[in-house]
Amino acid sequence: MTLQLTHFINGKRTAASERTQPLFEPATGEQRGNVSLASVSEVEKAIAVAKAAQPAWAATTPLNRARVLFKYKALVEAHADELAELITREHGKVFDDAKGELTRGLEVVEFACGIPHLLKGEHTEQVGGGVDAWSVNQPLGVCAGIAPFNFPAMVPMWMFPIAIACGNTFIMKPSEKDPSVPMRLAELLTEAGLPDGVMNVVNGDKEAVDVLLTHPDVQAVSFVGSTPIAEYIYATGCEHGKRVQALGGAKNHMLVMPDADLDQTVNALMGAAYGSAGERCMAISVAVAVGDEVADQLAAALAPKVKALKIGNGLSAGMEMGPLVSAQHRDKVRGYIDQGVSEGAELVVDGRDVSVPGLEGGYFMGGCLFDKVTAEMTIYREEIFGPVLCIVRVPDYATGVKLINAHEYGNGTAIFTRDGDAARQFCNEIQVGMVGVNVPIPVPMAFHSFGGWKRSLFGPLHMHGPDGVRFYTKRKAITSRWPTGIRADAEFSIPTMK
Ligand code: NAD
Repeated sequence: MTLQLTHFINGKRTAASERTQPLFEPATGEQRGNVSLASVSEVEKAIAVAKAAQPAWAATTPLNRARVLFKYKALVEAHADELAELITREHGKVFDDAKGELTRGLEVVEFACGIPHLLKGEHTEQVGGGVDAWSVNQPLGVCAGIAPFNFPAMVPMWMFPIAIACGNTFIMKPSEKDPSVPMRLAELLTEAGLPDGVMNVVNGDKEAVDVLLTHPDVQAVSFVGSTPIAEYIYATGCEHGKRVQALGGAKNHMLVMPDADLDQTVNALMGAAYGSAGERCMAISVAVAVGDEVADQLAAALAPKVKALKIGNGLSAGMEMGPLVSAQHRDKVRGYIDQGVSEGAELVVDGRDVSVPGLEGGYFMGGCLFDKVTAEMTIYREEIFGPVLCIVRVPDYATGVKLINAHEYGNGTAIFTRDGDAARQFCNEIQVGMVGVNVPIPVPMAFHSFGGWKRSLFGPLHMHGPDGVRFYTKRKAITSRWPTGIRADAEFSIPTMK
């Protein structure tokens, strides 16, 4: 146990903080090191460094900023195995899934490489006689990002590539559960030629976050995590005059119509519910079966597959599911299963006591499947964030839609059907931010924007894509007239264009 995760400020790793927290490897349960928890003064130092670096970085041409990102993309690709291993060691997800997460993050880097084009404003010649008007998109200054544990590479990469491409400097506050990969991602930026101070990482907890939320030199905060914290981040950041986008929790439903292809639906549910041990904000945690026949068929087809999930260390070949992120989180998920049973749901597959031979200290549990779940039950209402799928039975399409629309979360959803009309109607009337038609996890690509509705997102702008560029820039509108267009007399009424 030698790893000391500190902070990355002004292009280098710092000394350890006074306060630290143990860092665990979920597959073994062993402590692999300690992570520093930044003090107020350490975060203030990072903000001062980022503020000092910002004017020169903003003055660097967008083309040259993009060139750093092109080199960065190549470096991340060259280090992909190392980075994915760090994700698996500290998060637990299987290695291929970790590489997939990295790829989804790299797609945002690729998008940000187009920043010279993305920053272009609008221009109108002759808004009036001899008068032209145009807009420019300028950086905000120092921006901050706060990330959850479940995507330690991808979620930071939703944020910093676009923020820095736009000419801002950035302070990342990763999850304290898996901070190694964001630190390496920042170091690789320096290797790619990013000037010191443009990208900084502070590790820590609420103490560090609160400085970022209240400091006058931080202009914008991007947050991804649980809904109660997202709400707090949004309220506190806004109260302190910052631009905030705060993405929260989820409860994603798949509506399964009677005409859906059963094999395809079952395979889609297996990946979407149990991949990454259900620790995905876009995981499907509720299958809404239209009709008892569909529900019976789903339960019968899913049960043997859930029991057969290959569970083990995510670094071992062929695994389908790794451990949960921490012992506390595994115990919380087990508690939900107990509650589901006591509230009367039918536990078709019970994975509570599954352990992995040789890894008895790891935070493993098996996949769980509930049938006959109702909207009143805690396991339906709350986000479990574990390998648990609930089947809810509804008599018809309209009742299914009503159920989904009534849920407090609105991150992702999907309909599985062969009926184009039903799918079209679903896309139109469902009150959810990201919708899949026969696509179980409809995460938008980097050049679109990612975000949920209702209590899954606070703030008007989504992550990455066009919204990302809007979020990290402020627009300036310029109206210009040269002597040939200037009118002879003074005007005392509001100017109108002739
Ligand atoms: P979390 O809310 O516990 O932590 C997220 C971040 O907030 C961490 O960096 C943490 O250090 C910080 N934090 C925690 N408590 C805080 C406090 N009291 N004050 C200030 N900062 C605090 O979330 P998590 O457990 O790391 O991640 C899982 C959650 O994230 C799930 O709810 C999941 O749905 C959600 N999530 C949402 C999306 C999305 O796009 N909507 C994506 C990924 C994860």
